[in-house]
Amino acid sequence: MKEIVVYKFQHDLLHKYIYPWEDVIECFDNKLDSHEFENRKSCPICNLESEKLFWIRFRSLPVTWRMFGGREGPLSICPDCKIQVEFLL
Ligand SMILES: [Zn+2]
Repeated sequence: MKEIVVYKFQHDLLHKYIYPWEDVIECFDNKLDSHEFENRKSCPICNLESEKLFWIRFRSLPVTWRMFGGREGPLSICPDCKIQVEFLL
């Protein structure tokens, strides 16, 4: 797994993100085994297969849970394009 450089993450509209990167980066320690996610969505830009993407267990910030809008689940990130590809509930 190549190192993900935080400042390079895309924030523009072309590379839409699913959750704020600030929140996603908080979850980088919760790495998942990407081999469990074969045949999911591949990267829409470079077509990197889902099992080669970087998967984490995303959990939204505590404030969102207090407002009953908390979300938790696997989230895939393309390490080359620096985009969030897919979120599974
Ligand atoms: Zn990509």
